[in-house]
Amino acid sequence: MSAKYQAEYIWIDGTQPTAKLRSKTRVLDVGDELPIWGFDGSSTNQAPGDDSDCVLNPVLTVPDPIRKGNNKLVMCEVLLTDLTSHPSNTRAACAAMAEKHAASDTWFGIEQEYTLFKGSRPLGFPDNGFPAPQGGYYCGVGADEVFGRPLVEEHMTACIEAELAISGINAEVMPGQWEFQIGPVVAPTAGDHLWLARWLLYRLGEKFGISATLDPKPVPGDWNGAGAHTNFSTKAMRESYEPCVEAAEALGRRAELHIANYGHRIEERLTGLHETARYDEYFYGVSDRGASVRIPWQVEKDGKGYIEDRRPNANCDPYVVTKLIIETIHEA
Ligand code: ADP
Ligand code: MN
Ligand code: MN
Ligand code: MN
Repeated sequence: MSAKYQAEYIWIDGTQPTAKLRSKTRVLDVGDELPIWGFDGSSTNQAPGDDSDCVLNPVLTVPDPIRKGNNKLVMCEVLLTDLTSHPSNTRAACAAMAEKHAASDTWFGIEQEYTLFKGSRPLGFPDNGFPAPQGGYYCGVGADEVFGRPLVEEHMTACIEAELAISGINAEVMPGQWEFQIGPVVAPTAGDHLWLARWLLYRLGEKFGISATLDPKPVPGDWNGAGAHTNFSTKAMRESYEPCVEAAEALGRRAELHIANYGHRIEERLTGLHETARYDEYFYGVSDRGASVRIPWQVEKDGKGYIEDRRPNANCDPYVVTKLIIETIHEA
C-alpha cells in the first residue's frame, strides 16, 4: 500500500446574504496531483436537487497545520459541470480584475475583526447583564480584560504554519473581540488567505468549544461593531503621495456601490459612532478614524505609502472588496 495524505477541500457556499465556508476530506496517494472534485450543491444553496453536482477546482494548496505531516488545506473555487464559473464564485471576477490591472501591482492588507462566543454570549460577557463598559479591553492584558487568548494564539501559529500572510493580531475594543491581519499581498491571494484563515479560526474553535462570528454588530448599543478595514496600495501610491489622494477621491465617486458590496447589515455598523463614518456619507482624512477612508499620518509624513478603507464589514467577501477597489481606483 502506498503512503497516503489527507487533502481538506475548502470552498465558499451559496448562502445568502452572507456565504459560509464548507469543507470535506479527500484521501490521496502521496505524489498524486490534486484532482478537481465534486459536491452536492443542493445542500449548499448552490444547485437544485434534480441537477445537484457542482465542481471544486483547487486554486491554492497550503500545509495543513492541524493534521500536519504531508496533509494539505486546499482552497477551491466552485465551477459548474461545464467547468465555467458558478454564479456564487466571486473569486473568478476578482482574479480577472487583478489580471487586467496587474501592471499597477496593487497590494492589500486586511484587518479581520471577529467576536468569540461561548453559547449565546460573547466571551467575557457575564450570564446576566453586561461587563464594564469599553475602554480597557483594546490590546489589554489580564484575565479580567482579555478573553479567548489560547484560541487566538493557536490560530495565529496555525496561520503561520499554513504559510498564510498573517501579519499580526490584537485584542479589540469589546470583550471577546479580536483582530488578525492578512497582507500586504496581491489579489486574489489576499482573499484566498483570508478565507483560509477564517476556516482555521472556526476549525480550531471546535477544539475549544468556542465559536467565532463575523457578525458586524454582535451586541447592539454602545459596543463596537466588527469590521474588515482594507488597506491598499498601488506601486504608484508606494512611490508618491498624489496617487494616495487620487485613490481616496476615486473611492468617493462610487461610495454607494462600495457600501452595497461591503457586507450585509453594514448600516448597523457604520453609524457615525464607534470609530466609523456613517454608511450614507463619504469623506477621507489624515489620521481620522472617524472617516470612511483614512490616510495614515506616517503616509502623509513620508509622502507615500497606502490608504485604509475603513468601511468593509467583518462579514464581507474579500474577493468582492478587493475586486471593487481595483476597479474603482483604475476606472472610476
Ligand atoms: P490599524 O492601525 O488600522 O489597526 P493594522 O496594523 O491593524 O492598522 O493594519 C495595517 C494593515 O496595513 C496591515 O494589514 C498591513 O499589512 C497593511 N499594510 C501595510 N503597508 C501596506 C501597503 N503598502 N499596502 C497595503 N497594505 C499595507
Ligand atoms: Mn488594526
Ligand atoms: Mn481593529
Ligand atoms: Mn484599521
